[in-house]
Amino acid sequence: RNFKSSMECRWDIDRLNAPFLAIYESLIPPEEEKAKQKQLLTLLEKLVSKEWPEARLYLYGSCASSFGVCKSDIDVCLAMDADIDKSKVILKLADILESDKLQDVQALTRARVPIVKLMDPATGISCDICINNVLAVVNTKLLRDYAQIDVRLRQLAFIVKHWAKSRGVNETYQGTLSSYAYVLMCIHFLQQRRPAILPCLQEMEATYVVTVDNIECAFFDEVEKLSDFGSRNRETIAQLVWAFFHYWAYCHDYTNTVISVRTGSLLSKRTKDWTRRIGNDRHLICIEDPFDISHDLGRVVDKFSIKVLREEFERAAEIMQYNANPCVTLFEPYIA
Ligand code: ATP
Ligand code: MG
Repeated sequence: RNFKSSMECRWDIDRLNAPFLAIYESLIPPEEEKAKQKQLLTLLEKLVSKEWPEARLYLYGSCASSFGVCKSDIDVCLAMDADIDKSKVILKLADILESDKLQDVQALTRARVPIVKLMDPATGISCDICINNVLAVVNTKLLRDYAQIDVRLRQLAFIVKHWAKSRGVNETYQGTLSSYAYVLMCIHFLQQRRPAILPCLQEMEATYVVTVDNIECAFFDEVEKLSDFGSRNRETIAQLVWAFFHYWAYCHDYTNTVISVRTGSLLSKRTKDWTRRIGNDRHLICIEDPFDISHDLGRVVDKFSIKVLREEFERAAEIMQYNANPCVTLFEPYIA
């Protein structure tokens, strides 16, 4: 590992820029798709407001954070009175939506986050609706704001998400990481480059402050003022993809450290008391949620899936270093 951690990037790395950018471009959702998402949201608003005139619908997740690739599902949050019984609202909501032009309406009341799932035949878009998950709306804004600072974040995140989906390591129910976790890994990685490509918005003077579920969320959100923040760093997307996988394959200290977008730095597992297994939380790869800081997004990872994940990082790092055609090999589907 020590030998590999000092490995130099391949000499012809920039030959890979054009093909990586082409992959990125091909994943960007077309404008029509955005219009269809709006159309579905408007329909949902109309149906919901009849029953709950005070309630509001918010888009969150990748469709709102700008990290959504084409043909993604959309995530919607129904924000209403905090005292309601979520399961009851979920059932009622499913009932209302069922009776209209929507298909495959299912109420999942027993999930960790209860949701209604549905498909809109008019647009072909699938949608998950949750209740009062306002923290997710706020972390979506943080991600979107980071994406506006330097385009290399969105490029890197699209490539990493595409890799994770192709290789089967974007499945939280199988012990691998969520898309949200991968985007945080990309943000943290770009905060750590020297010169830095991204700042740490939560360490700057707060221009946006909200309190959600007793958590104060505060950060600098005038990101249009930061549009040349990363310009002193000239690394290209191919170099960054190489360095990202190299870091997670050979350099990250899984035993002792936590990545933290909130502080723009690495924290020690000891100071967070994330050193032992408590219940189902094992902390084998530690990714601090930027607002709910007691929440480790790596907690879904178990002793089997950590091995899978690390082997995939190593595979990707080796392909980036030695393979003649990484832009194909990297994304070859994993077949069990
Ligand atoms: P995809 O394009 O794969 O659907 P996504 O960004 O929508 O990606 P998800 O992992 O489905 O990613 O998460 C949707 C949103 O829910 C995230 O953007 C985030 O706001 C929130 N979220 C997801 N997982 C967590 C979590 N473990 N803790 C807090 N918020 C989360
Ligand atoms: Mg989503």
